[in-house]
Amino acid sequence: MTSPGCPFCQIAAARVPDARVVYEDQHTIAFFPDRPATRGHTLVVPKRHAPSVWDLTPEEGGQLARTVLLVADAVREAVHPDGMNIVQSNGAVATQTVEHVHVHVVPRTRRDRVTLRWPRRAAESGVALDETRRAVAARVGLQSGSAAPQTHSRGPDTISPEDRRQHLEFIQSTITRMSTASANVKTWLLPIVTAAYGYAAIQRSWGVAALGAAAVMIFAVLDANYLKQEQAFRRLYDCVAAGDPIPQFAMNPTLAAPTGARRDYWPGWDQFRSWSIALVHGPMLSIGLALVVWGLVTSSR
Ligand SMILES: [Zn+2]
Ligand SMILES: [Zn+2]
Repeated sequence: MTSPGCPFCQIAAARVPDARVVYEDQHTIAFFPDRPATRGHTLVVPKRHAPSVWDLTPEEGGQLARTVLLVADAVREAVHPDGMNIVQSNGAVATQTVEHVHVHVVPRTRRDRVTLRWPRRAAESGVALDETRRAVAARVGLQSGSAAPQTHSRGPDTISPEDRRQHLEFIQSTITRMSTASANVKTWLLPIVTAAYGYAAIQRSWGVAALGAAAVMIFAVLDANYLKQEQAFRRLYDCVAAGDPIPQFAMNPTLAAPTGARRDYWPGWDQFRSWSIALVHGPMLSIGLALVVWGLVTSSR
């Protein structure tokens, strides 16, 4: 229940005689911090030692929230602030200093010295923001089951065959787009590299050959990346087709990744080793490097 050395557990266990407790019930306790940021600043904690919000059960969360509302009302009536912040922080990066979950009730006045600022710039937007929303919505849906009231993400049970068919069509069109993009890469690459290598061979210019080889490497990365995305979407297709709990119309292939790995844009060795990359870009790179060596040897004579 309690953790030795935890200051909030000490207060919850009534072992701190000079603690300024303002409220207490079976599960929660509210008290003033040693150095209040404003007049009426109060902390609300569960009596059980839970390090962060992720360690609370839904019941404990409800009990905590109830006491926070109670204290927020009482503080407001007692000190008549102009406004109020309810602050709850988890982890050092989020400025949590005591590792026993707690909620700050902070009455605010126009001339207090508290600073809580949101950045002006959005952290992400557009497609990235949509993907984040899907990732979070999918996980809420998976954890709370189909009985929970979900207005935005319907559970897999409610997806109609028609919707699933359309979802599969969307994914398929993305797969097609990726393979078209990969074909385009090769279409662009061939004339560029042929021209560079031809020039390098005639002029015995190792520099131009090196440029050509560099182009091959850049295009190989692009191509391997398209392949990686294509493979990821094929996995998503299979999962949706198999009726896995993928949210309706989700287009984030990491939902189908076995580990929930983050989507990154750097291809792995698996893609570089595949025949469509290695057999196309490999020989072209070898020719380029051979031309570089040949150019260097002949120009030094
Ligand atoms: Zn504690
Ligand atoms: Zn705190």
